Amino acid sequence: MPFAQAPTGALQLKWELRDHGWARCHLANDFSQASLVVSYCTDALADLVAAAGGLYGQQRTTRFFFDAEPQEIRWVLRAEDALIDVTIYEFPDVSVSPDLPDSAGTVIWQSAHSRRLFSHAVLNAAQTVFTEHGEAGYQAKWMLHPFPVALVQDLRRLHLRDDACGLAHDHAHP
Ligand SMILES: [Zn+2]
Repeated sequence: MPFAQAPTGALQLKWELRDHGWARCHLANDFSQASLVVSYCTDALADLVAAAGGLYGQQRTTRFFFDAEPQEIRWVLRAEDALIDVTIYEFPDVSVSPDLPDSAGTVIWQSAHSRRLFSHAVLNAAQTVFTEHGEAGYQAKWMLHPFPVALVQDLRRLHLRDDACGLAHDHAHP
């Protein structure tokens, strides 16, 4: 399993709600970018925020997936020393791939960040969505799931308490 050898700088993460239960998750750093189109078959933004929050506990590896209908987009977050290794795999058919090992997928993103920068990017993306759409607007577009208010509040609390983040947190937040 390859790990990024060094921090790959700040992560830019953007979450765009589309209509009818679709969203686009855009990732970029100094070296690469990826664009993931995901459906509401899973509560994708909530799963991402929950996984970031999980990095503050004892768990060293967290997995979750987005449903790209039909692809599975599997995220694997590994806490390695002071860095969070972020690897995203794509599998062609989500109806069978959740039983497959990571090695059966295609790596479509890999980066490594301090927890502070990773969590800041996730929190910022979620708060930007909230600022833009609000709770009612979010559910109107994402349909099957409400905005993950409690998970975002948890992540914000953990991030501000434990990460000594000096970056701005000036978005509206739930
Ligand atoms: Zn921050």
